[in-house]
This record gives sequence, structure tokens and C-alpha cells, in this order.
Amino acid sequence: MTANLLEFDLEGLAVFCEGLGEKRFRATQLFRWIHQKGASEFDQMSDLAKSLREKLKVHAHVQALPVVSEHFSADGTIKWLFDVGDGNAVETVFIPEDDRGTLCISSQAGCAVGCRFCSTGHQGFSRNLTTAEILGQLWFAEHFLRQHLNVDERVISNVVMMGMGEPLQNYAALLPALKAMLDDHGYGLSRRRVTVSTSGVVPMMDRLAADCPVALAVSLHAPTDALRDNLVPLNRKYPLDELLRTCTAYLARAPRDFITFEYCMLDGVNDQPEHAQALIDLVRQHGRNGLRCKFNLIPFNPFPASGLLRSAQSRVQAFAKQLQDAGLVTTVRKTRGDDIDAACGQLAGDVKDRTQVQTRIAQQRTIILQSVSGTSV
Ligand code: SF4
Repeated sequence: MTANLLEFDLEGLAVFCEGLGEKRFRATQLFRWIHQKGASEFDQMSDLAKSLREKLKVHAHVQALPVVSEHFSADGTIKWLFDVGDGNAVETVFIPEDDRGTLCISSQAGCAVGCRFCSTGHQGFSRNLTTAEILGQLWFAEHFLRQHLNVDERVISNVVMMGMGEPLQNYAALLPALKAMLDDHGYGLSRRRVTVSTSGVVPMMDRLAADCPVALAVSLHAPTDALRDNLVPLNRKYPLDELLRTCTAYLARAPRDFITFEYCMLDGVNDQPEHAQALIDLVRQHGRNGLRCKFNLIPFNPFPASGLLRSAQSRVQAFAKQLQDAGLVTTVRKTRGDDIDAACGQLAGDVKDRTQVQTRIAQQRTIILQSVSGTSV
């Protein structure tokens, strides 16, 4: 079994190179070939000594997850479905905008948190992704996009850890992936442009602040413990007061001067004027001038098992206005990639349907098999 070099941040790769009897600086060259140039064949790496290339051919490989399918939306959004084995798949989505290109990355197959409005949560937890499987989503997408768009420079300017899974419940694999994203010899992304989204794993938020304080988004979804206990079961372990105190502490290390609160709008459940007022009161209670934060209201993508409905657009707008009038920066998330079923909410960790993913893998395989046998496509 050879080592997948996507498993390492630069320090990890240096240790690996030392294990091969090589100098540590060789790791920097190797890291640049892999992440900046997208190389996966060691013979491509022309400035590495031939002896090192031969050793690497024996002991290492560079490989992302197999792609099950890719879908291109009319609005430029691209979604990939990656096979993680045992009938499971994860999604990665690229969202182009005028001033940025954002990649939404998954951290787990399934999720153990079990949020009520999230179909990934309803399906349960399969397994953690490895660092190579997390980082490989960026490696694959960045170099695919450069080829696809026929450009040499970087295409992905922002990464959001908002795909399937709770990233802070897979911290050991997440951390080297984040470090490789930030490394100047890797993707060179600024800490402001890498966002980890969490449902509120309080101890790991403190760890992230100490180890790699990137931008933080918190899936809030409710202004009171009674309601949040119901929507985000992790709240029973880390209730709102503890969560918001941890957010306040995180701000001391955060690259942005605010925390983003994600709030999925659920008809009649958390979208009423009293909920907006309770949110305003909640953030005002934390910090001398209130917790510095920004609200992102997300349209819910209904799925039958949830028993929940999407809030009317007029209700979402009224809710946003109430927060804005109280001085809270509030945006309503735009829906992207509707035509390829990659609408925000599904792709951003708020509503994801692993059942659909499974069905689509099965359909895709059927189509491929039919195509091979020449019966139909
Ligand atoms: S919303 Fe995020 S944390 Fe909650 S169940 Fe879904 S993937 Fe897990």
C-alpha cells in the first residue's frame, strides 16, 4: 500500500520525505508540483532528482476520489459526485461569481448530528473522510477548472467547509487539509477565504481558534434552547449560551471581525417575528456591544421525512428586515444551480439528500452500463 500524498500538509510531507531518506526541502518542491501544478505523475516533476522520483513511484501516489458524475448548471455552477465506497457518495460544488470562485467541500459521508431539516442528518453517519479525500476535492476541482476554462491562474478563491458532514467532528483529518489550503506552497488561500461551518461543536471551535483560525460559520437555526434542542440535537450538549460565548472567544483569533450565523427558514417553526426578536436579544446579550455577527437566511429545501416546509419569500424578507432594522447585517442566500439539483441549502450543509445521491449513483451506473452494452443512454 503506497501513501496518497494528498493526505499531507507540508509538514506531513516533509516527514514523509525524511522517511524516504530525503532532505525536508524536497517536500516543498513536491508539494508545489502536486497542489500548484496539479501533477499526479512523478515523471512530470522535472526538477526533482531522478532517484527521488523513482522512490516516489514505489512508495507514493497522488489520487483524488473517483468521480461518479459531474453536472454543469446554466448559471455556471458545477457539481461533482464522488464515490467514497460502500455505496456512499459525497458532493462537491463549485459556485462562480463575478468576483470569486467558491468551492463547497464535504468532510464526512453522512453526518451524526442529525439536524431535523437536513436529510443527510436523517440518513445517519457512514464514515469520516480522510485528509486526502477532503483535500482531494479541492485538488481535483481546481485543476479540472483550469483545464476546463483553459487558464493558468487560480480559479478557486474561496473554500467553504459546508458540504456533507460536520467538519469539527472530523477534526484530525480536517486540520492538515486546511493547512494545505492556506499554505503559500499549496493553494495560498487567505484565512478570510476559508470558512469552516459548524453546528456548534464547542470544544473543537476552541481547538480551531488555537490551531488554524479560519473564518467561522455557525448553523444557528433557532433563537432559544427549547427550539434549537429540537432542530439541532447537538444543542442539548452545547446549549446556546455556551455556543455564543465560544463564538465571542473565537472572534479574538478570527480573520474576520464577525461570525456568520446560518439560519434555515422553516415555515411556522422559526420564522415568526418573535423568533427574529429573540435572535436580536440573544446576540445583544453577548459581548459589551453584542456579538459581532452576520446572519445568512437560507431557503429550506423540503424533503418528505422532515415534516417541514419552506418559509414564504415574503416572510423571509420581513424576517431579514426585522434583523436589519435592529442593526444586524443580514443577507438572504441566493439559490444557485437549481437545474442540477445543487441549490444552496442542499449543497451548503443545511439540506442535503443522501438518498437522492444514492439513487443518482445507481442511475448513473445503470446509464453507464447500458451505454457500454449499447442498449441505450
Ligand atoms: S446540517 Fe450539517 S451538522 Fe446538521 S445533520 Fe446536516 S450535515 Fe450534519
